[in-house]
Amino acid sequence: MAKRIDVSGLSAYYGSHKAIDDISMTIEPRTVTAFIGPSGCGKSTFLRTLNRMHEVTPGGRVEGKVLLDDEDLYGAGVDPVSVRREVGMVFQRPNPFPTMSIFDNVAAGLRLNGNYRKNELNDIVEKSLKGANLWNEVKDRLNKPGSGLSGGQQQRLCIARAIAVEPKVLLMDEPCSALDPISTLAIEDLIGELKERFTIVIVTHNMQQAARVSDRTAFFNLAAVGQPGKLIEIDDTE
Ligand code: ADP
Ligand code: ADP
Repeated sequence: MAKRIDVSGLSAYYGSHKAIDDISMTIEPRTVTAFIGPSGCGKSTFLRTLNRMHEVTPGGRVEGKVLLDDEDLYGAGVDPVSVRREVGMVFQRPNPFPTMSIFDNVAAGLRLNGNYRKNELNDIVEKSLKGANLWNEVKDRLNKPGSGLSGGQQQRLCIARAIAVEPKVLLMDEPCSALDPISTLAIEDLIGELKERFTIVIVTHNMQQAARVSDRTAFFNLAAVGQPGKLIEIDDTE
């Protein structure tokens, strides 16, 4: 089930360098919100505060609040690993585990999270690959390594891996910028379908893409190079 994201007073640092400053906004479930802005304004950092990956970076520190429905992701006693299970992420460069089979790539997160019977695992892997519009292309080669797929297929494999654990939110950090135009359109179509099930937050440098895939576009900007990024405007994309 998709959840609402409520960000308030959120700032993020690398050591003493403030990368984003005092962001507040609400992102509704089953919507796509695109973040756009100049390089270095903190889009990627912002995304990584939403699944507590920012703290893994040396010097990474976060102030403020992120609620997922009513759960405070930075609350006392909250395990960052469990946050990353609820908030899945897809990166700019498709990063399937290169030596693992296509099947195992999708099953990887499930195997970490619980004991699934073989049939159950098979079903979830099939459902996830179907959900990522990849099943028909790979169903006869599930034992082959993920690295043998095209870039666009690898990115859909990473999306299948991310959705297999049924996250509430799906974060996408420039998911198409390493892909050719046809693969890009396939991912954009897929985002439209995934929106029915997840809350989607996407970073893109492409205005047209933001207009095509998102319900809202949020603009980040920098007062000057070296200054923290600020959220300057949120537009409904129609
Ligand atoms: P964007 O995604 O908008 O290009 P980033 O979130 O990557 O911006 O970066 C925001 C700011 O944080 C930039 O000033 C960048 O130099 C800085 N930054 C990013 N990653 C690191 C890091 N690992 N260590 C120190 N500073 C970083
Ligand atoms: P075991 O429990 O015997 O190790 P796994 O379920 O881990 O069995 O699967 C063993 C291998 O078989 C995996 O590495 C995976 O690549 C492959 N595999 C499992 N299920 C399927 C499936 N439905 N279709 C194709 N290959 C599969």
